[in-house]
Amino acid sequence: MSYKNIETALIHGGISIDERTGAVNVPIYQTSTFKQDGLGKMRGYEYSRTGNPTREALEALIAELEGGEAGFAFASGLAAETAVLSLLNSGDRVLISSNVYGGTFRLLDKVFNHFNISYTISDTENPQAFEKDITPDVKAVLIESPANPLMTVTDIRAVAEIAHRHGLLVIVDNTFMTPYLQRPLTLGADIVIHSATKYLGGHSDVVAGLAVVKTKELAERLAFLQNSTGGVLPPFDSFLLIRGIKTLGVRLDRHVYNAEKAAEYLSKHSAVKSVHYPGLPTDKGYEVNKRQAKNGGVMISFELKDNYDIKVFFESLQLVTLAESLGGVESLVCHPSSMTHASIPEEIRKKVGITDGLIRLSIGIENIDDILADIDQAIAASEVK
Ligand SMILES: *Cc1c(COP(=O)(O)O)cnc(C)c1O
Repeated sequence: MSYKNIETALIHGGISIDERTGAVNVPIYQTSTFKQDGLGKMRGYEYSRTGNPTREALEALIAELEGGEAGFAFASGLAAETAVLSLLNSGDRVLISSNVYGGTFRLLDKVFNHFNISYTISDTENPQAFEKDITPDVKAVLIESPANPLMTVTDIRAVAEIAHRHGLLVIVDNTFMTPYLQRPLTLGADIVIHSATKYLGGHSDVVAGLAVVKTKELAERLAFLQNSTGGVLPPFDSFLLIRGIKTLGVRLDRHVYNAEKAAEYLSKHSAVKSVHYPGLPTDKGYEVNKRQAKNGGVMISFELKDNYDIKVFFESLQLVTLAESLGGVESLVCHPSSMTHASIPEEIRKKVGITDGLIRLSIGIENIDDILADIDQAIAASEVK
């Protein structure tokens, strides 16, 4: 099939038609195993942990969208991260961006440390400071850009260039941007990971993870780890993700339109102390983000001034829903210090700037006037008089 643009690839990329029947959607191959025609005579599949046609269609699709050699689908974003971090050996260390997703931090801090794989929090927004953190045991860097929840931007090209000079593996968590807005492999990354639970799924109805690798060698190693650790995505969930990805472009166009309006509105609001959104020209990450991504994405965080009670703010919202997660069609709000980032110790949270007053917004695709009216009335209700 020939096409040039990602909007088309979202719909026709990977394996988009069932060759045997011509079905325009790849069916849900709800089977655990496959008949063998004789000893050692498989028809391409043997057991669904190792390979399943529905999952394979999704894996081919995400590989094409990210521009990688191969894609892998997992039961969650953290299952994808577990498999990818299993590329490391005992004694290795990984550098992580200073405000990565709380679960990523917990996985390294509480699980991989049992296997003598350690981490250092590194200021990847500052490539010179990042280079100083590279000790001989450092074998990989895990970047989030924009990083959760302060939307700090890392210059992926600059960090990848330094990292490769020191022989490190460059892993980028591209959950917040998706390949529609940012393609880390083209910026020098070796591996892209996703919590597909978020924008790729897009409807808050599936938990899933994806990984895409740049080289054949990494593809072989990760295929082995996916099959050996076993956290694979089931066929039905693979189908839901393929379905979600088809509308990623139109959804994100509306999401970003709404997010830009919301960021502008919040930055002018008299009750708001600070706004973090790399799509605002005044944001410190704006220039770097513009060089590596299509726009500022959808995620915004902000703080209210001290004379506003954020507990009352959260309780007063009627349309915007207080919940973990992000990236669905509905607007969600969360309190990072007690929710998504609670597994990060308080002193580290304070150090990296995740204050108790920080509010994170995942703008949905509802009418922006309704979203802003709800936020406005909740702010007004939360003023301490
Ligand atoms: C949610 C999230 C994860 C974890 O993914 P799950 O699908 O919840 O396991 C990892 N990274 C980022 C940036 C996330 O937002």
